[in-house]
Amino acid sequence: MNCPCCSGKSYEQCCKLYHDGMLPPTALDLMRSRYSAYALSKVSYIIETTHPQSPYFEKDVSKWEKGVRQFCNTTRFVKLEILHPKYPDPSDPTVHFIAYLEQGAPFQLNEKSHFEKLDGKWLYLSGSFTN
Ligand SMILES: [Zn+2]
Repeated sequence: MNCPCCSGKSYEQCCKLYHDGMLPPTALDLMRSRYSAYALSKVSYIIETTHPQSPYFEKDVSKWEKGVRQFCNTTRFVKLEILHPKYPDPSDPTVHFIAYLEQGAPFQLNEKSHFEKLDGKWLYLSGSFTN
């Protein structure tokens, strides 16, 4: 299977490595693997890679899981386009991307995501959105 993150690689040689426990070396790799996790309903991966200071962090984990699962189940993850960075850069904490999604009708999510490394692990901190 092609990796849902649109890297052109197989899932096994791409985001599955991170879903199985390898640490993503850059914020870009983490972002791609989170997109794939949404596409494959890997809810716990989304939760584990969210920064504790993120506005999306939710103390009630079962409520959080339910919300993420519902989003995964009602959304088709059509395509991911990375606008920045063009190449993985271990020091760059931002990723600008467009996610092509479908919830009945197609829509785009244009997001600049911010990441932070905590105890050697890249985590998703926050996002700002453009229409
Ligand atoms: Zn991937």
